[in-house]
Amino acid sequence: MKFTDFNLKPEIQAAVEEAGFREPSPVQKDAIPLVLEGHDMIAQAQTGTGKTAAFGLPMMSMMKGDGSVEGLVIVPTRELAMQVSDELFRFGKGAGLKTATVYGGTAYGKQIDRIKQASIVVATPGRLQDLLQSGKIKINPQFVVLDEADEMLDMGFLDEIKNIFTFLPKERQTLMFSATMPNAIRKLAEQILKNPKTVSITKSETTNTKITQLYYVVQERERDDALVRLIDYKNPQKCIIFCRMKKEVDRLVAHMTAQGFKVSGLHGDMEQKQREVTIRAFKQGGIDIFIATDVAARGLDVNDVTHVFNYHIPFDSESYVHRIGRTGRGGKSGEAITLVSPNELRTIKRIEKDVGTKMTTQVIPTRMEVQNNRNDELIANIAQTQITDKAIELVKTLQHDLDIVTIAHLLASMVQSDISVKGKDNIGLGLEEIELLIERAMQNRGGGGGGRNRGRGNYRGGNRRRSGGGERSGRHGRNGRSSRNGGGRN
Ligand code: ADP
Ligand code: MG
Repeated sequence: MKFTDFNLKPEIQAAVEEAGFREPSPVQKDAIPLVLEGHDMIAQAQTGTGKTAAFGLPMMSMMKGDGSVEGLVIVPTRELAMQVSDELFRFGKGAGLKTATVYGGTAYGKQIDRIKQASIVVATPGRLQDLLQSGKIKINPQFVVLDEADEMLDMGFLDEIKNIFTFLPKERQTLMFSATMPNAIRKLAEQILKNPKTVSITKSETTNTKITQLYYVVQERERDDALVRLIDYKNPQKCIIFCRMKKEVDRLVAHMTAQGFKVSGLHGDMEQKQREVTIRAFKQGGIDIFIATDVAARGLDVNDVTHVFNYHIPFDSESYVHRIGRTGRGGKSGEAITLVSPNELRTIKRIEKDVGTKMTTQVIPTRMEVQNNRNDELIANIAQTQITDKAIELVKTLQHDLDIVTIAHLLASMVQSDISVKGKDNIGLGLEEIELLIERAMQNRGGGGGGRNRGRGNYRGGNRRRSGGGERSGRHGRNGRSSRNGGGRN
């Protein structure tokens, strides 16, 4: 199936081509025809599956572009509002469809001006309710979309949403998107949708199989060391580290900065401007590592996030799914890495069951293994390098005085010497202990007692067994450590 099969308006079709979308995603295949036929719809699909285009393309294809607000999209967070707005703008600009983004924490005036010129309003519930209730805006959208509906309910926006609908026309087409379908969502759907069609992308299609899911078992006090070691080993181009609390974000930002990484924190207390600046820096590569809470990173759509780290395992499976969905976007592959303490192994097992995928456990690499990995990457980089005339000249000159081994040694020391892996050699538990602990945890299911006396990390005898070689191929990515702050890690 191709996008041209949908018979979208030529300007919209052109924008799809310009965006480089080759083939509709599963949710797009199912949803776009239904929306074009005018049905209400409730769609279940996980994050990163292309929901924005699934509602945006057909909706915009049907719009008149008469200057009134024809479409309203309600989303849970400011970040998401900006992202969805950007994406819709990209698809609609050829057809002359403007978008306005509406969220709290900024002045009303400009937002209201923008709404007056827009065909599509993308809004968070709180501010939208404000504007409607106070009569500051009046809109008559024919299309209404609730995006990430489960998130909005989780964030406590049910009342606002119900209230917003009292200001909307009865004659409308309503679309609801949600990653999960708890009862509260079904109930809401009954209230706001008319004879809806259902789209559900089955689990195997929903779970992004391009995300490799790994977990490492560490003692509580080893988390920081484990994180640094794994980042050194994986050498991510861009990664997001998830924490449970703001306090933890702040502490980790300080810790990682001291270790010489280019990091930035993202949490709910940040000023709107500051958040925007930070997110832009992350998108453009000025920052490699984002340390964030769930709420702050909800829906964040940054391409090229190669790794997601869970500093702690999230409390529930849905957060886990949302978190790991920050990588492997737009058909790319990604890695999700979770640090767990022995006590949290049960949570891992529960999440595996809920999500319907299996995570792989691995052992944290030793210093030597990280170093070897780096050497492999270096060799891969060298192999890819175009040899220039200048280099040939240089070798010719050096060859007069030096033998080839010395030349190699010189070059290697020039490129390579800026990383030395720090920390104790063995971090975390070995595979045999992990297997044993999983077995015990599963036996003890529901048996309440957590506080068993598993010693103080003396789990490692000589039995650290490697899990199948790990990934050695190495991501060539950045030139060595050049994108880190000053070489403070020597
Ligand atoms: P969701 O809302 O389901 O989390 P998005 O709509 O944000 O997902 O899409 C995720 C990413 O995938 C975006 O960067 C988007 O541009 C891209 N994308 C969406 N549909 C396609 C497609 N058919 N082909 C290629 N990329 C796509
Ligand atoms: Mg989305």
